[in-house]
Formats: sequence, C-alpha cells, structure tokens
Amino acid sequence: MNQIDLLIKDVKIVDGTGATAYKGSLAVQGDEIKAIFRGDNGKFLEANEVKREVDGAGYVLAPGFIDVHTHSDLNFLISGMAESKLQQGVTTEIIGNCGSSPAPIREAGRSMLEEELADYGMELDWSSYPEFLEKLEARAKSINVASLIGHGAIRKAVVGYADRELTSSEIDEAKDILAEAMEAGAVGFSSGLIYPPSSYGTTEELIELAKVAVSYGGIYTTHLRNEGCGMIAAVREALEIGRQSGIPVHISHHKVVDKECWGLVAGTLEIMESAREEGIDVTCDLYPYLATNTSLSSLLPDWAHEGGREKLLERLEDGDDRERLLDYLNDRVARRGWENLMISELPGDRYPEFEGSTLKELGESWKMPEAEALLKILSEQELRAGMIGFAMCEDDMVTVLTSRLSMIGSDGSSLAAEGKLATGKPHPRNFGTFPRVLGRYVREKGLIDLETAIHKMTGKSAARFGLNDRGILKVGLKADLVLFDEGKIIDRAEFIAPFNYPEGIKEVWVAGSSVLKNGKITDKRPGELLNI
Ligand SMILES: [Zn+2]
Repeated sequence: MNQIDLLIKDVKIVDGTGATAYKGSLAVQGDEIKAIFRGDNGKFLEANEVKREVDGAGYVLAPGFIDVHTHSDLNFLISGMAESKLQQGVTTEIIGNCGSSPAPIREAGRSMLEEELADYGMELDWSSYPEFLEKLEARAKSINVASLIGHGAIRKAVVGYADRELTSSEIDEAKDILAEAMEAGAVGFSSGLIYPPSSYGTTEELIELAKVAVSYGGIYTTHLRNEGCGMIAAVREALEIGRQSGIPVHISHHKVVDKECWGLVAGTLEIMESAREEGIDVTCDLYPYLATNTSLSSLLPDWAHEGGREKLLERLEDGDDRERLLDYLNDRVARRGWENLMISELPGDRYPEFEGSTLKELGESWKMPEAEALLKILSEQELRAGMIGFAMCEDDMVTVLTSRLSMIGSDGSSLAAEGKLATGKPHPRNFGTFPRVLGRYVREKGLIDLETAIHKMTGKSAARFGLNDRGILKVGLKADLVLFDEGKIIDRAEFIAPFNYPEGIKEVWVAGSSVLKNGKITDKRPGELLNI
C-alpha cells in the first residue's frame, strides 16, 4: 500500500482556473498535490494508506490565495508568521510594490529605514538587493514570498532625492542594479509615480529599465502617476512603457481617488482592453475597500520632497516654502475634505491619542487650521506618520473587480492582532481583503461568481507573476491550499477596529504543511522565497 500524507475528501473543489466547481477529493504527498478525484474516492482509499483524512463536506477547497500587491517587505523579517494574511487564506505575498523596496539602500533614505527597523529592535544589515533577498530566503516563514525591486529604491541608490533626469551613466548604473536584482531572484520591478523619488523618473527612464527587467522574464507593476482626473494620461504612460519595451504591465490598485472623476475606470479598462488587442500585455489589481492608505507626507507636493527628509523638514518651518506648502494644501488637499483624511499611524509614543483622528479633528484639538496642523504633526513625527483617505466609490471598485483584467491584491502588509505588528489603526485591508471579496461581493451581493473570484486570487495571479508551480489545483504542483466555508467567510476588520481576523477559514496548507488550523497558526514554517 502507498502511504499518502493527507486526503481532503468530499469537498467542493474550486481549482483556481476559473472552471466550474465540482465535488471530489484531493490527496497530498510531501509538498505536492498527488491526486485529484471527481466524485467517489473509494478505490483510492482501498489502494492507499492515508495518514490524515480531512472531511471536507460543506467546505470549499481552493489553491492558497496569492496576494499580488503587498508591502510586507520588512514584516517578513520582523515576523515570519504573516498572521493577518494567513488568517485570510493567503499563502503567497508579492512584495516590493509602489516603487518601494528596502533594498538597495545606500545613504538616501537610510536613517528613515534604520528608525523603522529600530522600532522592532532590528538593525539594517544589508545594502544590495541580493543581500536583502538572502535575508528573506533565510527567514523562517509561514507563507511564501516573491519580490519586486522598487524603482524608487533604485533611484535613491543612484541619485538620492534629486529631482532631475538621470544622465546616461546614471541610467547605466540603475540598469545594473536592476539586472543584479533580477539575477538574484526578483520577479520584476515596480514604480510609485506619485512618490518621490520614483515620481522624479521619466517615461524614457522607465522604458530603459523595463527592457532590462523583461530580458529576465520580469513584470512591471506601477502605482500610476495620477489616480485622479489625470488618470487616462497616466494609464497611457504605463501602456507606452509596455509598448516600447515589450514588458508585461500591471497597474496596481486600479481606482479613482477624486470624487469629481469617479467613473473614469470604465474608460481606462477599455483603453487597457484595446491595448491588449494591440499586443500590450496589461492587467491590474484592486482591493475591495473605498479608502486608500499611505504615508501622511504623500499629501505634500513633489517639489517639497526634493533633496530628501532633512530638506523637507526644513521646508515645513521655513517662511516662503512653508507659505507655498500651506497654499497648496488649502487648495489641492482641502478639496478632498479634511474629514476624509484619517491619521492611521504615528510611530513612537508621542501622540497615540491621534491615531484614528481625522485631520479635521486634529485641527480642532490643536485649535489651528488643518493645513497647519498637518505640517506640525509631520514635523514633530519627522515624517513618520500614516494616513487613510476615504476617496473612492463602490461602483468603481465593482467595475474593476468584475473586469476580466483584474486580480486581487490587498496593498496591505502582514500584520497581527496582537504583539509588535499590532500598532496604530491600520487599514482593514491588511486583515480582510480576501474574505471580503468572497463574503461581501460573491455571497452577499452576487456581483461575481465564486470560481471567477477565486481565479483572481490564485491561478490568474500565479500565471501573471511567473509562479509556475502554484495557483491551481493540479497533480504535481505545490500543495498550497485553503479550506473555507463559503456560507460563512467574511471579513471582520473595520476602520476604527481593524485588529479582527476574518471568519470562515477552516485550514490553510503551504507546501503540504498545515500552517493554520481552526484559527490557530501552527509551528510550521514551510514558506519559501519564490523566483520566476
Ligand atoms: Zn501604491
């Protein structure tokens, strides 16, 4: 008799390809899927000795979810447990998004990264991208991780926060850094074209870099240069990078953040569809919430960041620049509504009472105009502050969700409900993204069917990022699996009470090892650094 490690039987199988679900059983041997049966499994049980049988009746079995857009870069080093993702059924995260990765790191941005690590009792002990990947690989992890290199990080290493075009020798240096990262195992590169210094990069520079990444089979993901009323031009820029370089283009967290231009995504998705007909390989991702989450300092204009943090802190105090900043904030930012901008995190222990306050409330507390209160908190925190912005509409979110071009990415990090990764008021997407799609948009609203939703969390995502041995249930592939109750699965995290894990996830396996069982994380750490 053959020994079989695990048999999950009489379960509804959603295989991740988008194909119709069916009742059956799935066997796991070692870290791989050994067999899959439709209907009766009697003969298999006669011929094999099964070490562990799981009765899947009443549950759905799907490939482990792949979170294609995350910022868990440091979190993997801080804690390899990835709790807030694992509790959602996520078995792989793609880090290094929005132009931001913690490597390479030279002088520019170094002190900020050191401070962030010091909060967790850690030291910065890498500089090149390959060194960072080595650390990531060596870290014991509950789930898998694949990594992009950030365009902002590359630019920081080459010219710091200089707001200018790169010279040809600087472009060569940037290309070398990218090539070195791709050789070490990066799956592509990302840009964050609203965040300095990535935003200082030109389209031509990005095309040159894209040519390097695509020569290694990599992808280009982008936080567009504009997600408001200028979004069409920003999408066209992303497509132009694909057209000129031949790289697959993936638009991150596709959405419109300006109320005056809600609805634009219908047009941009059409533009993306026609680009595909032209041969440009473009897709996008989304998270199922109506609020953004980013650094509070991203509310300041590009020019204010020129030269880096010290320069910016001076501008917050200085007469002329400060006046210019206040004018900008009172014009451009005030339109978003100070009551829609909530402080989510203030590292350090100076102002815990304002975590969860809107800028309107902060202004009231400090008895000063909101724009001045914003500059004061940024100055006192030395820019270390996060914010949540209520800015999108559900119709747009559903338009993107139901497009055949989209997949699911939380844009969040691996956090935890308690301990050192439970600080501030983080966006609920960190805790609820995947169950929210399955509970609210599949079951409650019926806007997308289960098989399609799962496909956008698994098979489509794996294929997109070159993760060829996962993402679908197929014999011979890695046994990354999630078992959940489709009648119960739902997110429980809210903006004001984010530290709640979702409900309805019964068990999660990574490479055949049970990593989450009945809500509890096991002691197994089978996660790997994945390459293309
Ligand atoms: Zn982003």
